[in-house]
Amino acid sequence: MPELSDAQKVTDATSTTDQTEITAAQFLRSLIVTIVVGKGSKAQSFPIYKDLLTTHSPYFKACLNGAWEEGKTNIVRLEDDNPKAFEIVANWLFKDPTAMKQTDITNKTVVVRYKLADKLLMTQLKNNILDGFQAFQLAKNESCSIGWLDHLCSKGLQRTALYDYCLKSYVSGLGAPEVKCAGDMFANAAGSLTNEEAMKDLITMMAKFMQQRWGDPRKETGCVYHDHSDGSSCSVVRGVKRRHE
Ligand SMILES: [Zn+2]
Repeated sequence: MPELSDAQKVTDATSTTDQTEITAAQFLRSLIVTIVVGKGSKAQSFPIYKDLLTTHSPYFKACLNGAWEEGKTNIVRLEDDNPKAFEIVANWLFKDPTAMKQTDITNKTVVVRYKLADKLLMTQLKNNILDGFQAFQLAKNESCSIGWLDHLCSKGLQRTALYDYCLKSYVSGLGAPEVKCAGDMFANAAGSLTNEEAMKDLITMMAKFMQQRWGDPRKETGCVYHDHSDGSSCSVVRGVKRRHE
């Protein structure tokens, strides 16, 4: 049987209860690595326990446990990513209760944050971000506009749950005039209209809607828009908490 890391042992040990916190001794045994996010003067460094990163992100596991340079230097550079977006990742890893405030997941921030979680292969974080986005749109009484489709395609997020949610949100919004369209994406409407794949998806979804007339996608709960393709489950307790002073 393969040797488990300290964080995996803690996760296993606490999977039956949400109360146990990782001990100071266990934290101390885990190496701290540095994630440098952004470029030049805008770059920010995040020192984080290696076990936390490698347990929750297959991306970091490959970087830090493989034979790559990062495994020797214990520094991972994410030059093309946004330090603000990485704050969500860091907060989520430490299970900070403020990590998923609705103000963190808005029309303006959801895409970059979802994309980073997607890149880091952190499915549960993606799911939490999407849950937060549904809640945000419900609170604002908004739905996605047609421009979201091309915008998400341009970010490489076409075959994701966020894309599915936006598609359904737009189509449902057409039949609900009391729901406002998220206006800041209107600028991309022309892009969506000339995007063949997005139009194909849109027409398919509209045809389904004509037959089924589903409810408000913002109110759909459970795992409807979750990615569990890695075998993860929402019932799994991650078991690692920050020790609050
Ligand atoms: Zn789920």
